[in-house]
Amino acid sequence: MTTAVRCAHHPERAALGYCSACGKALCAACLVRLSTGNYCETCANPPARPRPARRFPWWAIVLAVLVVLVLLRAILR
Ligand SMILES: [Zn+2]
Ligand SMILES: [Zn+2]
Repeated sequence: MTTAVRCAHHPERAALGYCSACGKALCAACLVRLSTGNYCETCANPPARPRPARRFPWWAIVLAVLVVLVLLRAILR
């Protein structure tokens, strides 16, 4: 039984399947069967992720660089 795939969460248990989303090996207790396939608990119930922090828009950086260039030209003239 050395070749048996073990559950990612329970090393002592044999895996029955794999998560369709992350590919984790899962035992009967960890396997979540959905209509779309088998999933681990994490992928079956993804935690509500907080919205990522709004990134500084790229056009604002371009605009700032242009303004600096125009100001430099005006100063150096
Ligand atoms: Zn998963
Ligand atoms: Zn398990």
